[in-house]
Amino acid sequence: MSLTSLSLTELRQKLSAKEISASDLVRGVAGAIESRNPELGAYLTWDLDAALKEAESADITQPLGGLPIAIKDNINVEGQPCTCGSKILAENYTAPYTATAITHLRKAGAIPFGRLNMDEFAMGSSTENSALGLTRNPAALDRIPGGSSGGSASSVAGGIALAALGSDTGGSIRQPAALCGCVGMKPTYGRVSRFGLIAFASSLDQIGPLTRTVADAALLTNHLCGFDPRDSTSLNEPVPDFTAVLGHDIKGLRIGLPKEYFIDGLHPEVEAAVRKGIAKLEALGARIEEISLPHTEAGVATYYVLAPAEASANLARFDGVRYGHRSTSASDLMEHYLKSRSEGFGPEVKRRILLGTYVLSSGYYDAYYLQAQKARTLIKDDFTKAFEKVDVIVSPTSPTPAHKLGELTDDPLQAYLEDVFTIPANLAGLPAISVPCGTIAHEGAVLPVGLQFITKALDEATLFQAAHAFEVG
Ligand code: GLN
Repeated sequence: MSLTSLSLTELRQKLSAKEISASDLVRGVAGAIESRNPELGAYLTWDLDAALKEAESADITQPLGGLPIAIKDNINVEGQPCTCGSKILAENYTAPYTATAITHLRKAGAIPFGRLNMDEFAMGSSTENSALGLTRNPAALDRIPGGSSGGSASSVAGGIALAALGSDTGGSIRQPAALCGCVGMKPTYGRVSRFGLIAFASSLDQIGPLTRTVADAALLTNHLCGFDPRDSTSLNEPVPDFTAVLGHDIKGLRIGLPKEYFIDGLHPEVEAAVRKGIAKLEALGARIEEISLPHTEAGVATYYVLAPAEASANLARFDGVRYGHRSTSASDLMEHYLKSRSEGFGPEVKRRILLGTYVLSSGYYDAYYLQAQKARTLIKDDFTKAFEKVDVIVSPTSPTPAHKLGELTDDPLQAYLEDVFTIPANLAGLPAISVPCGTIAHEGAVLPVGLQFITKALDEATLFQAAHAFEVG
């Protein structure tokens, strides 16, 4: 059995029994990357020497001691590239500092190893918006891995990363996890520091793990969370041990199925797989009931006003002066800004900047941005009311299985609509996880389906409990 097919929990045992060393593990992962990354395109770069150096001094008595973790290319690790999948950062940017999430992982003994492809600045659902190459779905190489954390999901599901970090603004951890067939978890907004995560939409972004098992996700989440004074939205809340609930049964757990999530656009076979998953939860003793989240319909429109608005402000810092791509043909300062930005950003990023600038401009601010903020409150209130009746909400993660590469690149609106089930948890700041829920036969391929669980803010413990019971049940 190859090392890279084992869970973090199994590898920890091997490390502590001294059956393998941290250096063996790093070398094992590097070997897997070398053999399979050429077809998957999940990693952009990896620095074996730096990782081996960290492995030499790894303290394997730590909870993540000696475990290499692959990192989405929008999370800064000092001395490493951090391209955000963009030309604007690909040429001459090396991270000058380290994200708090990485510092936390390192404190627990982990080794950040390898940089993973993503949609440019995390804008997209297929990783096809990366300016740095295609990433493929390990379940079907002619299909998208989802996105924007497509490299993270492809590497974990494809057996070339033990676990990875991603970021989720509107579904970017959960949707690729669902499409590739691994676990992907977005913590409560504010649980994991955003310091060092290159911002897309600051009120929605959250770092989280992609793993092969729910137990691995719980283990990583334990060490990602924690208050950080360098992130003004960081929550100063105690972090329980999320692995403590693994193995607890779900008898009597109240699970709500939002009727607005079982709609026409839902692929019939995805629905069938999800219904089977729900039957399993019921067989495990959960009490299933239908609920309503009446403002779900407004979710996508709300998100595609707020996220671009925030992005347009966040991306203003890429001006070709301080860092990143610098145009060489400008004759004055204004032209320098214009050229650096138009040469450096790809089409989807430009579309978002235009959209965002438009909805924030005077005359349109009230009609779009302010309206969207109000809609966001209504969506949040829907969840508050629902969680008076149920403990967990369950739904499909994505309405469709992975589509073919190139199939939706000319239809951004259709691509936006695919975020319909993941966006609401971001708008409401809630924790959510996608867990593999079988596969379907589709157009000659066997494609994974994901089941999404959502809980109240800060109730990751119940989320992991339910997801784990489902996974092993
Ligand atoms: N697909 C969504 C978008 O394009 C979500 C991306 C994300 O979560 N980063 O904005």
